Amino acid sequence: MFLTISTTGTPERPATDLGYLLHKHPDKAQAFSTSYGKAHVLYPEASPERCMAALLLEVDAVALVRRGKGKGRGGAPDAALAQYVNDRPYAASSLLAVALSGVFSSAMRGVCTARPERAAEPLPLRIEVPALPARGGPELVRRLFEPLGWTVTVDQIALDEQFPEWGASRYVRLLLESDGRTLAEALRHLYVLLPVLDDAKHYWVAPDEVDKLLRAGEGWLADHPEQKLITTRYLSRRWSLARAAMERLELVRLAETDDSEVEDIDNAVEADSEEEEKPTPLAVQRREAILAALRAAGAARVLDLGCGQGQLVQALLKDVSFTEIVGVDVSMRALTIASRRLKLDRMGERQASRVKLLQGSLAYTDKRLKGYDAAVLSEVIEHLDLPRLPALEYAVFGAARPRTVLVTTPNVEYNVRWESLPAGHVRHGDHRFEWTRAEFRAWADAVAGRHGYGVEFVPVGPDDPEVGPPTQMAVFTRTEKEAKAA
Ligand code: SAH
Repeated sequence: MFLTISTTGTPERPATDLGYLLHKHPDKAQAFSTSYGKAHVLYPEASPERCMAALLLEVDAVALVRRGKGKGRGGAPDAALAQYVNDRPYAASSLLAVALSGVFSSAMRGVCTARPERAAEPLPLRIEVPALPARGGPELVRRLFEPLGWTVTVDQIALDEQFPEWGASRYVRLLLESDGRTLAEALRHLYVLLPVLDDAKHYWVAPDEVDKLLRAGEGWLADHPEQKLITTRYLSRRWSLARAAMERLELVRLAETDDSEVEDIDNAVEADSEEEEKPTPLAVQRREAILAALRAAGAARVLDLGCGQGQLVQALLKDVSFTEIVGVDVSMRALTIASRRLKLDRMGERQASRVKLLQGSLAYTDKRLKGYDAAVLSEVIEHLDLPRLPALEYAVFGAARPRTVLVTTPNVEYNVRWESLPAGHVRHGDHRFEWTRAEFRAWADAVAGRHGYGVEFVPVGPDDPEVGPPTQMAVFTRTEKEAKAA
C-alpha cells in the first residue's frame, strides 16, 4: 500500500524542501519498522522544480494476524483464510495512516527546525493514493476532502478491468490537489480520513484514540460538515468514545464562536419574520416560561440540569426568590463558559453563596442532586441517545426527586415553520431525536406514572393551530408524599 506526496518549487523555494518538511532526506531511501510491517520512504523524483515523496508500507499479514489486529475483517470462522489473504498489503487503509503518523510524526505536528518558516506556510501539494478502500464511494470521498479545501479527483476502480460488467470495486484512485494547505494539515487530514474511508477495525480503539483524533483534527474537524460520520467511523463506531469526542469538539466550536451564535436556530426566527416589533427570540421566551413555572410552583432551591453556558442560571440569579441555584453539566468547557458569564470569581460573597456549578452526568444518579424544590431540563433530553433516556429518567425522577421538574424539548412538528431549516432536519446537529407533541406526551405521561408525578403541558412560543408551538414544556409535580426515611 502506498501514497505519494508531491510539490513544485522555484529557485527561491525549491521543491526539495519537502525533504526538510518531512524530515526525510530526498537522496536516501529509508526504511522503518512499524508494528504492521516495514515502511519505506523514498523519492521517485527530487529536483528544485518537482519533488515527490512516496510512503510505502509492506504489510506483514501474518504478523498482523498474530498481533490480533486483523480481526475486523476476519469474523466468521470460515473466513480464517481472509485474515492472511486480503487487501491489506495493497490498499491504503488505516494501517497506512498509522504508518504515516509514525514515520512523519514531526511533520504532522508542523515541526521543522531546518525550515521553520516553510512548515507554517501553505505549499502546492499533490497527493495520490492509487488504491484506497472507500466505503461510501467517490461521493463520500468528495464530501470528506472538499470542505477542507482540496480539489478532489476520484476514480472508482473496476473489480476487473477485463470484465467491466462485473462492476466497480470498493476501491478508488484518489488525487488531492491544493495550494492552500500546509504539509502538516495535509498529513493530519490523511491520518484521520484514510481510516474513516477504510472503515474497518484493524486496531483496537483505545481511549487515547479520542485524544489522537482531536489532536489530528485540530483546526478543521470541529467545523467539518461530516464531523459526526468522521468521528464515529474513526472511533470504529464505538459510540461512547465517539460521543466523548464529539462533546469535546462541540466545546471547541463553542469556545471559538461568539456566545451569541450558539442559539442560532432559535434566534433565526427573528430574521425570518419581518415584523414591525422585534419578536422575542425563542430562547428568551423559553427562559421566561421556565421562570414563570418555577415561580408558580413556589420553588426556591433550583437545579438547572444540563445548564450549558449558564443563561438560565444567570436569569435565576436576578430573582431573589431563588435562594439556591445549582447548574449541572457534563461538559467542563460549557461550565467554564458559564462561570465566566456569571463572573463567579468576581461575585460578592452573598451572591456567590446562592450559586454553584457542578460537573456531572445526568445518566448517573448523583447524591448531590437530592433535596431540591425543582429541577429544570431545558433542551437537554434530546441530546441523549434514546437508550440513555431511562437512566436520566431514573436519576432525576427516581433518585433526585424534586417536587417540580420542568422539561422542555423541541416540537418536531413545528420544524416545517422554520424557513431556515431544510426539510427533515433537526434543529441542532447534536439532537439525537426530536419529538412530536404526541411522542413527548406519551413519554412524559409514562414517566409521571412510573414515579408518582402529575404532568401538565405548556406551549412555549407561538402556538400554531396546525403544528403546535416550537418548544414544548412538561411541568411535572410530585403527587406522592416522600416516604419518610425512618
Ligand atoms: N439548558 C441549556 C443548554 C441546552 S444544550 C439551554 O436550555 O440553553 C444541552 C446541554 O446538555 C449541553 O450543555 C450538554 O453538555 C448537556 N448534556 C448533554 N448530555 C448530558 C448529560 N448526560 N449529563 C449532563 N449534561 C448533559
